[in-house]
Amino acid sequence: MALDFLAPTDSTADPGPAAADALPHDTQARPQARLLALRQTFTRLGPEFYSSHAPQGLPQPRLRLVSEDAARLLGLRAPRPEEPLDVPSCAQWAHLFSGNAAAAEPAEREGCEAISTVYAGHQFGNWAGQLGDGRAHLLGEAPAPDAEQAQGHGWWEVQIKGAGRTPWSRHADGRAVLRSSLREFLCSEAMWHLGVPTTRALCLVDSDLPVRREGIESAAVVARLSPSFLRFGHFEHFSHSGRHDALRRLVDYTVERLYPQAAQASNPALALLRAVSEATATLVARWQCVGFVHGVMNTDNMSMLGWTIDYGPFGFVDAFDPGYTPNTTDAYGRYAWARQPAVARWNLLALAQALLPLIGDEASARDAVEEFADHFMPAMRDGMQDKLGLGPARDDDPDLVQDWLDLLAACRADWSIAHRQLAHCVAQPQAGVPGALQAQFAAWPQRLQDWLERLQRRLDGLDAAQRAERAARMRQVNPCYVLRHHLGQAAIAQAQAGEFGAARRLQQVLRRPYEEQPGCEDLAAAPPADAGPPVLSCSS
Ligand code: AMP
Ligand code: MG
Repeated sequence: MALDFLAPTDSTADPGPAAADALPHDTQARPQARLLALRQTFTRLGPEFYSSHAPQGLPQPRLRLVSEDAARLLGLRAPRPEEPLDVPSCAQWAHLFSGNAAAAEPAEREGCEAISTVYAGHQFGNWAGQLGDGRAHLLGEAPAPDAEQAQGHGWWEVQIKGAGRTPWSRHADGRAVLRSSLREFLCSEAMWHLGVPTTRALCLVDSDLPVRREGIESAAVVARLSPSFLRFGHFEHFSHSGRHDALRRLVDYTVERLYPQAAQASNPALALLRAVSEATATLVARWQCVGFVHGVMNTDNMSMLGWTIDYGPFGFVDAFDPGYTPNTTDAYGRYAWARQPAVARWNLLALAQALLPLIGDEASARDAVEEFADHFMPAMRDGMQDKLGLGPARDDDPDLVQDWLDLLAACRADWSIAHRQLAHCVAQPQAGVPGALQAQFAAWPQRLQDWLERLQRRLDGLDAAQRAERAARMRQVNPCYVLRHHLGQAAIAQAQAGEFGAARRLQQVLRRPYEEQPGCEDLAAAPPADAGPPVLSCSS
């Protein structure tokens, strides 16, 4: 496939001035001491990469949700918004993570000089030109006490989303509404605990500030962490506008910080592309296996680290339909579950196209992208082998796996429940098929029986201990709890009334998605018939 199918550049325009008039701030929340020692490194790339226009912040911000796990990554003690004694710490967190600290007069910014960065992207297959952080501000990076958790990096970048306009907001308001912020907060932490690479969510701050979407809603800010928020689109921006010097600086910066092993290669840009192809393949295989659909796999939403980034109209597959997409604006299902691997490869071609001026050789760039398949196929195969308890792959296994997927689709079986229940059949074949599994295949009970007989023949020869071991492994990869659409919607409805109990319960349960937790059966169940379709628009 030629790399030149992508549309040419259309935008080199510099951003106009941001309308960032400061909002009234909660001055009583002035902190006593700095929470975090933050520094910026992206700024050393040069002024064409970022804007240091301050955020607007939030009036009277309230800290609503905190991830203790994410706080620990920064060496912070997480305040508990539900504890009256923690009010002073909550105010301090709300001040910093609403963007209010960065919005203050320079002398009072707690060393927090926020920036927003410029990038471009392909959206739904079309070149969209310049985009950029329209509502995200990078507060800076903080040291990571436990580098292993930061994938070997010694820092976490702290970014806030929804703190107001930037030079790249275009005609939008720079805000995020509570419902979408809550979904991003819950899902990014849940994904991490599912074992899927993802940006983390540190906390959620909200405010009564009205925000206009389809109706009037209220504003919120999510503070998120990642070793890097660089996207494919950052590279596309400098490449397609012909700024190859800047592109080289960006590649050097990325290699040095994220893929230092690529620095040793004879062609570091090519080594970078190969590394990103591999990381993306691993990521998408994990998405497929847990039934996650990102919903907006535009190149500006593809992370250079190969982590899940930008949670918009995402969804988890309930009743399995390979063509499922949660995004109502994606009329043709471009980003449906079954298309995610192909789209990831397409996006890597867009990255290859952007890096081509530095890579030099088109064939090598194409080969580096094709490594996506070399990593994706075995990762997906191994993932499915584990999900079905098959152990090391045998020749006939691909047929067995494909027939299982076809059966799930024909019966619209619940992805999570069907896989989770299957472990019983592997552990104790003599105990019969669990009712909860049968219920998922009510449309074709005989097909289920036939397939299960094939599974048992395949597992023939395993003793009870080996079967127990396989089933245990299945329970480590087939979650009991995922952030189902209807659960998120119920938590949102409460939160919009100022009550965060359901959100906190979900947050806690989703920290241990592979463990059955007594009293949480409602969170493992398929959606009720009247739950409404698990779809969302892009508006957030
Ligand atoms: P998304 O679809 O959320 O990935 O956003 C695509 C582009 O639109 C990015 O450049 C965002 O920063 C920008 N964007 C989305 N929503 C807003 C908003 N409310 N205000 C400003 N920019 C936004
Ligand atoms: Mg985005």
